[in-house]
Amino acid sequence: MRVVVFERYGEPAEVREVPDPRPAPHGVVVRVEATGLCRSDWHGWMGHDPDIALPHVPGHELAGVVEEAGPAVTGWRVGDRVTVPFVCGCGSCPSCAAGDHQVCERQTQPGFTHWGSFAQFVALDHADVNLVAVPEDLSSATAASLGCRFATAFRAVVRQGRVAAGEWVAVHGCGGVGLSAVMIAAASGARVIAVDVSPRALDLARRFGAAECVDAGTVPDTAAAVRELTGGGAHLSLDALGSPATCAASVNGLRRRGRHVQVGLLPSADGTTAVPMARVVALELEILGSHGMAAHTYPAMLEAVRSGVLRPDLLVTSTITLDAVPEALAAMGTAPGAGVTVIEPWS
Ligand SMILES: [Zn+2]
Ligand SMILES: [Zn+2]
Repeated sequence: MRVVVFERYGEPAEVREVPDPRPAPHGVVVRVEATGLCRSDWHGWMGHDPDIALPHVPGHELAGVVEEAGPAVTGWRVGDRVTVPFVCGCGSCPSCAAGDHQVCERQTQPGFTHWGSFAQFVALDHADVNLVAVPEDLSSATAASLGCRFATAFRAVVRQGRVAAGEWVAVHGCGGVGLSAVMIAAASGARVIAVDVSPRALDLARRFGAAECVDAGTVPDTAAAVRELTGGGAHLSLDALGSPATCAASVNGLRRRGRHVQVGLLPSADGTTAVPMARVVALELEILGSHGMAAHTYPAMLEAVRSGVLRPDLLVTSTITLDAVPEALAAMGTAPGAGVTVIEPWS
């Protein structure tokens, strides 16, 4: 099969022929029809993820067709159209037993803990725990974006962020996950403020339901702008980019008892950043994380997609081939772009 592989962190990836993967007894091999390009892939390529061993094939947002199933798989058959959360659970640890597969103690992540979906085939473990059926009328390109960005945004806004109609929600960073969050918060009846340095990203945010936009390229203190627009601060704020500046701005833009959800990964290897904790204490703020979404919680999100309340298809702004990935991957660092780029490995 053809894959995108890199041998050293930060050095150009290349497209290469490698042997096809085989499924684990409890796993499947999926023929990849579409896979999203995400900033997390760039973090992995830069060496920010300790789970990655070289040489490595990235790619963690995928949809495709089951090509081969291991002998212990009972719920899926060759030919089924499927997607997976980017965090795959083991199905048997205490977190999985509690339904929290997104923080599984023995989790696997395609494109991080093993080779991912910038490939024509990908192996996925514990298929009965992690595969999600893709509804017939959902394209693979759209379904691919659900596994990481859209599902992560859904959980961050709805579950961790506990969004309520009428609340002010600030979204710092309007790439794929941020635009998803804008759409989901707006569909939940919240008034959304989008913050980004890119006028194009803000245009898309407005199209997806943002009531207000703050251009971080021209507004020096975005937190003050959010407090001003909301009459005291957002009820819920997300750092959907992952940088010291956006994290701090998100926390500083909250009103009393507001909730900050960290969604974007921080660029340093240990993921640390300065948080204005004095403000957290004085205003009784909540600091939350969001890490994907378990496969068994997909039905509510898929129903909102089926009914047209949520339109992840609108987030897909470009489609590329495997050959274009090395350059596009490198560009994610400096120009993450607006919207979602989908790779079709067989085109
Ligand atoms: Zn991702
Ligand atoms: Zn587990």
